[in-house]
Amino acid sequence: MIASAAPMATIETRAFIAGTFRHGAGAAVDSINPADGSVVATLHHCTAEDAQEAIAAGKAAAEAPAWRDMLPHNRARILHHIADGIEAQIAEIAALQTADTGKTLAETGALAQSASGTFRYVAAALETMDEALTTPRGPYLTMSIHEPIGVVAAINPWNSPIASDAQKIAPALAGGNAVVLKPAEWTPLVSLKLAQICADAGLPAGLLSVLPGRGSVIGDVLVRHPDVGRIAFTGGTVTGRRVAAAAAVKFMPASLELGGKSPTIVFEDADIEQAVAGVMYGVFSSTGQSCIAGSRLFVARAIYDRFMARLVECTQALRVGPGTDAATQVAPMVHHSHRDSVAAHVAGALADGATLLCGGRAPEGPLYDKGAYYLPTILEGLPNSATICQEEVFGPVLVALPFEDEADLIAQANDSVFGLACGLWTADYRRAWRFARAIKAGTVWINTYKQFSSSTPFGGVKDSGMGREKGRDWIRSYMHQKALYWGMDEAPLAWAKTQA
Ligand code: NAP
Repeated sequence: MIASAAPMATIETRAFIAGTFRHGAGAAVDSINPADGSVVATLHHCTAEDAQEAIAAGKAAAEAPAWRDMLPHNRARILHHIADGIEAQIAEIAALQTADTGKTLAETGALAQSASGTFRYVAAALETMDEALTTPRGPYLTMSIHEPIGVVAAINPWNSPIASDAQKIAPALAGGNAVVLKPAEWTPLVSLKLAQICADAGLPAGLLSVLPGRGSVIGDVLVRHPDVGRIAFTGGTVTGRRVAAAAAVKFMPASLELGGKSPTIVFEDADIEQAVAGVMYGVFSSTGQSCIAGSRLFVARAIYDRFMARLVECTQALRVGPGTDAATQVAPMVHHSHRDSVAAHVAGALADGATLLCGGRAPEGPLYDKGAYYLPTILEGLPNSATICQEEVFGPVLVALPFEDEADLIAQANDSVFGLACGLWTADYRRAWRFARAIKAGTVWINTYKQFSSSTPFGGVKDSGMGREKGRDWIRSYMHQKALYWGMDEAPLAWAKTQA
């Protein structure tokens, strides 16, 4: 945990292309601190030509014997060096990411720690990865082995840069590939810092490129280029669908971590204080800018009024402020325009007849005037079919609904195009099991929320995406599987037997 802002060293604003830092050939763009609107850094966007150069360098580096034939334990050693480099600079990385994203230092420190942990977990998985000797059905020996794909394109959103970068770069490199990473336009700085750490850790040139720039330019080239063999995408469902369509044209494997509108369910036997804390953390931490935000709250009718009164009381007591203040719980949103889009969602819900229980506006005062702040907001009074219950807001906005009947509750909880996560708060383990199985989602948390472990596969169903990150099969998802048949018979194949 980071208690106070560490000084930031020189900020790397150059793109990392083919093992060299240099400015992208595109327009100069400011990266803004959403806490006060100040310019953190100015950097040049990459162009389509920059992306093509990065892909060509990635292809050459992935095919070079030095990388292709490197033994797994030596590749794992590089991943450990990268983890060491991240850990040695956590305070600096956290300060940079807080300036670029607005997040609290506690969160950005945790994200950097998580990135380091990802490289270590993947290194361990790489060293212990087995290939299979499969059961033969004839006089031959059969094996199933895995080989690198080549160049992997990684495209990330702005909400957790260094952690989501690591979740793609580490398993892709472990699988023997090269990676071309496109960070989000709003938050490129910490990804460039990670590029420097990877270079310092001894990663051979060309195996990683980091290209700041527009998704519609760089992202589009990465997805369509014939030499890119795998796409790892995290972002919104609309963009994800476009990426998946382009991947389908060239039969390219793609993992898609997309949006959510996750239900959190509080049963009448739940520990109220624990559930209030969990619901607030689930939706208001990261200022709600989290794919797994528990943004649809179902509360048993029998405790609805009591629970909501306590939830509103605690929500109003959350401390809203800059991410550099150790006391802050709810930091600014990533960008002023995103704050405005969240405000528009709330205005739409109120126009649809929602009742505002708290928040619903930006906080007032000199501390907040220039920042992209928005108060934690709770709405009620609309059915699950309302737009605010169906669309992802990606901000600190919770919509609450009472429920009475379990069967109807399951139907409502599953009545969403999304299927990313769900939270259950109950003392009844049988009910928890029943609901956990009935909910259509990639992750269910029971009496906790928003906890992660590298060893536990994560991903969505329905419009929340496809494929999984994390777990022991993580590296394999960045490899092609190949079958080997070794003939063990001394005699020629029987079919070919002739009278000659
Ligand atoms: P987004 O608009 O879909 O952008 C995601 C990334 O895709 C950005 O780097 C973006 O570049 C790029 N992109 C845009 N157009 C593209 C194109 N035509 N081809 C290829 N790439 C393109 O999403 P966002 O607003 O940054 O992030 C918020 C979304 O991410 C939410 O829906 C959230 O739920 C989701 N998310 C999901 C997970 C998960 O694990 N399931 C985790 C975190 C976030 P630009 O920055 O230049 O637009």
